[in-house]
Amino acid sequence: ARAEESRAFEADVAKLLHLMVHSVYSDKDVFLRELISNAADACEKLRYEAIARPELTGEDPKPQIRIELDKDKGLVSIVDNGIGMSRDEMVDALGTIARSGTKAFMEQIEAARAAEAEGTQLIGQFGVGFYSSFMVADRVDVVSRRAGTDEATLWSSDGKGTYSIAPAALEDAPARGTRVTLHLMDDARDYAERFTVQRIVKAQSGHVPVPIVLVEAPGAEPAEIADGAALWTRPKAEIKPEEYADFYRSVAGQFDDPALTIHVRAEGRQEYTLLAFVPGSRPLDLFEPARKGRMKLYVRRVLITDEAEILPGYLRFVRGLIDSADLPLNVSREMIQESPILAAIRKAVTGRVLSELEKLAGSDAAAYEKIWDSFGAVLKEGLYEDFERRDALLGLARFKTTAAKGGWRSLKDYVAGHRENQTAIYYLAGEDAARLDASPHLEGFRARGIEVLLLSDPVDSFWVTSALGFDGKPFKSVTQGAADLAEIPLVDKPAEASPETTAAVAGFIGFVKQTLGEAVADVRASERLTDSAVCLVAPDHGPDRRLEKILAGAGR
Ligand code: ADP
Ligand code: MG
Repeated sequence: ARAEESRAFEADVAKLLHLMVHSVYSDKDVFLRELISNAADACEKLRYEAIARPELTGEDPKPQIRIELDKDKGLVSIVDNGIGMSRDEMVDALGTIARSGTKAFMEQIEAARAAEAEGTQLIGQFGVGFYSSFMVADRVDVVSRRAGTDEATLWSSDGKGTYSIAPAALEDAPARGTRVTLHLMDDARDYAERFTVQRIVKAQSGHVPVPIVLVEAPGAEPAEIADGAALWTRPKAEIKPEEYADFYRSVAGQFDDPALTIHVRAEGRQEYTLLAFVPGSRPLDLFEPARKGRMKLYVRRVLITDEAEILPGYLRFVRGLIDSADLPLNVSREMIQESPILAAIRKAVTGRVLSELEKLAGSDAAAYEKIWDSFGAVLKEGLYEDFERRDALLGLARFKTTAAKGGWRSLKDYVAGHRENQTAIYYLAGEDAARLDASPHLEGFRARGIEVLLLSDPVDSFWVTSALGFDGKPFKSVTQGAADLAEIPLVDKPAEASPETTAAVAGFIGFVKQTLGEAVADVRASERLTDSAVCLVAPDHGPDRRLEKILAGAGR
């Protein structure tokens, strides 16, 4: 065996370590996530190598991560039975910066410094890997034994420019895998406390695919703190509805059951798993302007961020996660969010959520309408925000109408029930569907059996004026212009107007025009009324009555 050696860190590592130790980095907790994720990676690597060489795992095939605490000595160790490292591998992995993520990180730090910006702030946005141990430890020992070998190596450093590497006795090393021991700084001794470690593991690594046990003190019994089963990685057929519901409650912070669960594994150009839920009820902050389409983002079961903007604003009620196999780990969250891979995932996932909603609408109309009841007003924002998906969204939209009797109608149903010569989809927009239903504007439409959409959400006036129509039929406000009703036959045979009536109407119109003068653009006899004498109508082009009111209210 080779003797002990002292070696200098590569220049970039020394720089990184210096930054790490001297940063006023608030979230030191991440070191644990980094070490656990390395331990889990090592287990996953072994799992893979053992496919070809089963002797590597031998009698102990179950992967496990152990966190050992020694409060008295201020030690915390992360032990895995994964692939382990040879001496050369340790020199490579723990003395240089091999991964592109760290390089990019260093470059950003340098750039920030050159611009005299707060470089250290950046650290918080990065997964910083093994070297983050030096944020909480003034010495780190790594003992490792590569699977299938009978050599163990001890790596040790105080993070101040050099490290030592030496052969280790086999009895000081795990039978296979790696032990990383942190000698905690005085102000970081909290990390040797059971509660602290449990809290961090639960928050950051609860879904790591390897079980984690905690050994509270030397000689204590190991207690499992994470079971290593990432729900979304399990086959759909094996997951019970209660398990989905439990998971939904923890990920969405809701107390009810999900109205829709979407669990899909995408393979092809992007490989990812989507587990998403539509809540069973409306979250309180649904209309907060700051509420965005947030999902948890995992890369190979390691949590990157729980605020990834995966879904557009109009799907902000959807809760869940994406686990990507393709995104790079350990680059900044910003870099991940800007990655073209994520852009492609975003697009695919948005389409998928909409198509699952459509599927539900087809298979269980009542369940779908319940979702529409809670979130329709939000989904409709997409009608003017996402032109690419406007048709899909119009297909999903449900409406109160004069014919729906309190229920919901789709545009497809509306168009299927259109009247002879009817060329438009008519709507009436206002504050409340029940009041709209009593509007005199509807009389002429009722008399002809024409269904009218009753739009009572504030967003309605915005999308409906820009939407091009549905199934070739434009949207038209019943308060607007000369209602082109003459072509559409009345349901009951009309009474012929006598010459006296026609003359009386003409006289009346003349009188009203004279009286109102400049206040109105025109006064006309109209087909739109049957029982009421008069109603106000907006011009054919420009805002309809409802939008006019909203704009007037906004002082414009
Ligand atoms: P990353 O995990 O992104 O590669 P890290 O700084 O976290 O970067 O780790 C650097 C390298 O050290 C890893 O790629 C791996 O080769 C090695 N390593 C760290 N911890 C372990 C471990 N517990 N078992 C085996 N190898 C490890
Ligand atoms: Mg790592």
